[in-house]
Amino acid sequence: MAAAAAARRLSPSTGFYTDLAILPIGRTLVDNPTADMRPAFGSPIPVFAKVDADSNGTFVDFYHAIAVLNEVGNKLEHFQRCYLHHSQILKAGPTLQIWAVDGAEAEQGKMSSFAVDFKLEKVNSDFYSAIQEKKSKSLVKETADANGNKETTTTVSKFEEKIEQSSAKMYFHYYGQLLHQQNMMQDYVRTGTYYAAVIENQADFQGRVVVDVGAGSGILSLFAAQAGAKHVYAVEASDMAYYARKLIAGNQPYGQRITVIHGKVEEVELPEKADILISEPMGTLLVNERMLESYIIARDRFLVPKGKMFPSIGRIHMAPFSDEYLYSEIASKALFWHQQSYYGVNLKPVHDSAFQGYFSQPVVDAFDPRLLIAAPVIHTIDFTTAKEEDLFEIDVPLEFQSVVAARVHGLACWFDVLFDGSMAQRWLSTAPGAPTTHWYQLRCVLSQPLYVLAGQPITGRLHLVAHSSQSYTIHLTMSASMWGPGGVRGGVLQTSTAKLDLKEPYYRMSQSPAYAWTQQDQASQYREETIAQQQMQQQVDGMSIQQAGMSLQQAGIPQEVASQVPTQTLVQQQQLAVSSIAQVPQQVPQQLQQYYPQNYWAS
Ligand code: SAH
Repeated sequence: MAAAAAARRLSPSTGFYTDLAILPIGRTLVDNPTADMRPAFGSPIPVFAKVDADSNGTFVDFYHAIAVLNEVGNKLEHFQRCYLHHSQILKAGPTLQIWAVDGAEAEQGKMSSFAVDFKLEKVNSDFYSAIQEKKSKSLVKETADANGNKETTTTVSKFEEKIEQSSAKMYFHYYGQLLHQQNMMQDYVRTGTYYAAVIENQADFQGRVVVDVGAGSGILSLFAAQAGAKHVYAVEASDMAYYARKLIAGNQPYGQRITVIHGKVEEVELPEKADILISEPMGTLLVNERMLESYIIARDRFLVPKGKMFPSIGRIHMAPFSDEYLYSEIASKALFWHQQSYYGVNLKPVHDSAFQGYFSQPVVDAFDPRLLIAAPVIHTIDFTTAKEEDLFEIDVPLEFQSVVAARVHGLACWFDVLFDGSMAQRWLSTAPGAPTTHWYQLRCVLSQPLYVLAGQPITGRLHLVAHSSQSYTIHLTMSASMWGPGGVRGGVLQTSTAKLDLKEPYYRMSQSPAYAWTQQDQASQYREETIAQQQMQQQVDGMSIQQAGMSLQQAGIPQEVASQVPTQTLVQQQQLAVSSIAQVPQQVPQQLQQYYPQNYWAS
């Protein structure tokens, strides 16, 4: 075949852009010894370019021009592949583009930056706009009408419709790092419960097609393969997908039955439907990160009717708490702004804003369950039936009955999820007093505490409104209501409100690992003491939470945890909590710091 004829057939309509040359960019020292190192272009390599896509995303393949002309029609080897989501492309002149490629491809010894020189301005413009269109994150959908006429429409994926690009970029950058996957993996309560739930329910996996929604390192896909899955599709949007491939390839024979797909569950296509979905989409307060919505979308896109979901339900537990120490810690943070002469500057004008600012941060730490003053309210989300939109706004009416007289400092929240296997059921709990997970618990603190007496109702509302930064605004109202004979039904004595941003939590562990200390202490005490001894202790210590009317089972505290809960009165408990805080160092020792969360994406 004549080369000219072949070249004529190679045009954007056939997918090829011709008449261009790649100029590798190196660094060179110009003659002038005072000048900087300047980038210099290497010798031009004549190339053809082709835009294409695979399950990892859209890419441009650059081929040696001579090879294309010689081998057109046969399978061609590209000499440089650049995924667009890893490439920064600059139109640097009428016939020049500069490409900078980062991410895993660049690591594999390929060129990380180069210039592309075009013979014709028009080819430069056409090629550039073709790339920009692909990069603009829109998905192209082909639909056919009744007569079979195809129509192409551009749609934005459900993810991009609602999530701000800058938030998504940070989010997936975070999960693209091994250290953050490690943080989750080494939460052994979390990973161990997933492992147990899968292995105990092999029947649900044996010979089945599984989709791992947000596979991260691929650990859950490997569990599913260990349990005998026929095939696992591991869908992961961040660059962790590259490491997942490596990890899975190194774990044969299971790896042969796992395909890693780099993309968002809202956007990728899978070759077959799944019998079961496995995922770990829980964030702080269950819903932070808004990944439950992706889990539900994956269900609608990939799961066969009546297919299983691991986990299948999630529950948010909420209970009022009393914690003087926490309250004063937060309130005193703003004292800095109370100074009238800080190097001669009056800071008071912004004191009130700073004060409100501190109370708008939900507190994340492991607290002592003895700080709870009423049985929790539970809000259940059934992942098998919920609609994506159900998670845009979550509205929970609150109604509690205080078991002690106390100052109420706010609402404590935690969650659990259920693996409803056909052979065994398993709960993963993040309750206070249960073995601590990397989610800890969450507390919304009221800037104006409420005063209640034993038996008095506390009413209110927790209203979560999703926002485009993959989190929620929390609106909390709590009121102490009238009670007793003659009390006006539903009448309110005091009301306090708070508005918090779930995206900006205050991670408290590093300053005050108080509960870690008491928990450890309880655990060793528990090993030594018999239950009978504990009961005797209870009589000595006077009125306990249990005696005040609330059983810990009622409070949603698991049996094995309830038996560890100490028996002092609330006041004694708080004194103990405060004194134990005073005894622990305020700073986490250097060698332990790596074990503390470094960022707020606690999932
Ligand atoms: N399954 C892993 C990782 C859980 S963390 C484990 O249990 O250890 C959640 C993971 O889901 C992150 O790696 C994140 O990048 C990914 N993810 C979040 N939203 C996603 C989406 N819409 N599509 C694909 N992956 C997503």
